[in-house]
Amino acid sequence: MKTKILLVDDEDDLEVLFKQIFRRQIQANQYEFMYARDGQEALAVIEQFPDIDVVLSDIHMPVMDGLTLLAKLSETNPIIRTVMVTAYGDMSNIRTAMNRGAFDFVTKPVDFKDLEVTIEKTIRYVNQLRETAELKAVDEMKTRFFANITHELRTPLSLIISPVDKLLETTDLPVSYQQQLSTVRRNARQLLRLINQLLDINKLEAQQMDLVTEVGDLPGFVAQIVDLFRPSTDIKQLNLAFTTDMPPGNYLFDAGKWEKILYNLLSNAIKFTETGGITIRLSQTPTAARLAVADTGIGIPPDKLPHIFNRFYQVDNSRIRTYEGTGIGLALVHELTLRLGGTITVQSYLNEPTGLQGTHFVLEIPVQRVNNYKEAQPVVTPTTSMDLLLPAKATVAESQSVDTTPLILVVEDNAELREFMIAELATTFRVRSAANGYEGWVLAKEELPDIIISDLMMPRMDGYALIEQLKADPATDHIAIILLTASLEQDSRLKGLSYGADEYLTKPFHVGELRLRLRNLLNRQQKLREQYRQQLAQPEPSTPLEAVQDQFLRRLYSLVEQRLDDSSLSVEWLADQLAMSRKTLYTKVNSLIQLSPNELIRQYRLRKAIDLLRAGHNASETAYMVGFESPSYFTKVFREFYQQTPTDYLKT
Ligand code: ATP
Ligand code: MG
Repeated sequence: MKTKILLVDDEDDLEVLFKQIFRRQIQANQYEFMYARDGQEALAVIEQFPDIDVVLSDIHMPVMDGLTLLAKLSETNPIIRTVMVTAYGDMSNIRTAMNRGAFDFVTKPVDFKDLEVTIEKTIRYVNQLRETAELKAVDEMKTRFFANITHELRTPLSLIISPVDKLLETTDLPVSYQQQLSTVRRNARQLLRLINQLLDINKLEAQQMDLVTEVGDLPGFVAQIVDLFRPSTDIKQLNLAFTTDMPPGNYLFDAGKWEKILYNLLSNAIKFTETGGITIRLSQTPTAARLAVADTGIGIPPDKLPHIFNRFYQVDNSRIRTYEGTGIGLALVHELTLRLGGTITVQSYLNEPTGLQGTHFVLEIPVQRVNNYKEAQPVVTPTTSMDLLLPAKATVAESQSVDTTPLILVVEDNAELREFMIAELATTFRVRSAANGYEGWVLAKEELPDIIISDLMMPRMDGYALIEQLKADPATDHIAIILLTASLEQDSRLKGLSYGADEYLTKPFHVGELRLRLRNLLNRQQKLREQYRQQLAQPEPSTPLEAVQDQFLRRLYSLVEQRLDDSSLSVEWLADQLAMSRKTLYTKVNSLIQLSPNELIRQYRLRKAIDLLRAGHNASETAYMVGFESPSYFTKVFREFYQQTPTDYLKT
């Protein structure tokens, strides 16, 4: 390969001299010389020929001297190396040049044999630099390619999951279809989780993942996640124990990251353990929470232990591995822990004379106790979706039970943002989507989602109009709404909230924040549901049913009350009165109070029975007054519900 050498000197005859001396190399096309008379000219030449490898530069020159040229070059060109050609004994300038990054120096009068050796040495070094730079560029390209591919996979995947979710909700779907569709869904979700993990790890490495701090009951949160794994440990007949001495109460912590850490540690522990069990212990140090996850599984050999936090590392990397996986889990756990300012250590025991067996992870993650909240904040509900954790065999049971995973409707006209949200949410929730307010409204009426995330500016029907429609319809007025606004304008925010949006997020938003808001809304809904159920179930005169906060329930109760003694009161009649379909009534009642309409009627009757018994009616009178066909049936149902017969109840 030809080496390009730039000679920078204000002596004219030097050019001729070089041509003579290096005639052989020039003819053999080994060297190509270029010339400049001062630093300024040199920079211009280099700009034109950026592939110059070596600069031979004088120090004292008019316009721009060699030292200035050197300083400029080291700023602009990371590859070119400069050899100073200077007067013998000019030690202080030589020192300055070397400090400014000159590669070497030769002194005048030039010893050309020595110069040739120096040039060759410089070329070797420059070639090394070029190679490293190329490798780095290739590496960067690979990383970018990888990130792009991963990103691109999310859209088609979310477009598989979303319709499958919908198909699975078809009533009367043959069981064999249900099973196969569940398999599709489980695997697609798993793939999506994997992809999201890969993206997470890229983000963490590029230091682009933000911290999200939530307030909540940390020990309760960990306990909930551990419980999600119980079906998996049950199937493998493993013990699963969680202990903590951390006082319950409010802590500041990043729930999303804790969840990912726990998910990976626990799924590993279960995957690599065949007998015995898994213990999780959460304790407190003065500044941190200490989380220990220990299993009695196959263990990790000491020489493999240092590598397990590396990306894609797996102890068993044979093609016919016994255990599934890609080796990303622990790398993510490691990065997340560091991001949270924590530490992680691991110890593993196998073939110990003591008989000790298994792997122990210990993490210390800073968390803060908060005392200045008056009431304890509800436990943040983990968002990990259950069916990811179950082995394939459990599909039948899974598909037969009603899917209680929250349903989110995304209404957004920007296709890219819409798919992004679906991909983010589909690992955790059931997701539907619509491309404008009108479609959103139609879907919302059909499916009654738990939460709608809606854009503001959309064709056909904008966000405000959508909210207005939803709030005007008793079937949909309970649905929580998160508004996405592009503008920071106080105006649109206030307007949205005044129309009845529950939350708003400003674009571009942070996925962690979106998840947090979803979780908070779902928590609030769950708390309300429980409150309404309690109110209906518990015969406390202090909480009369007529005073129930929710308008729809109030109306429903008063309808039942109208025909309390009528045993033929039916769900159809209720639906008719409320001008909604049976299916809508069912979903609405279920989402408000987690009961079926029939169950609600029955509980209402039982609750009223208590009032009547208290007012002095005997059991059989009461039975007829609250619409039971026979006193004996009334007694049976009453006892099932209150664990006492009506007569016993009166006595206490
Ligand atoms: P993935 O988490 O991506 O599904 P994986 O579980 O194989 O795949 P990691 O969670 O990163 O990957 O774990 C890396 C390797 O460390 C595993 O393949 C396994 O060999 C070993 N390992 C991790 N946890 C345990 C454990 N609790 N017991 C024994 N070996 C473990
Ligand atoms: Mg793993």
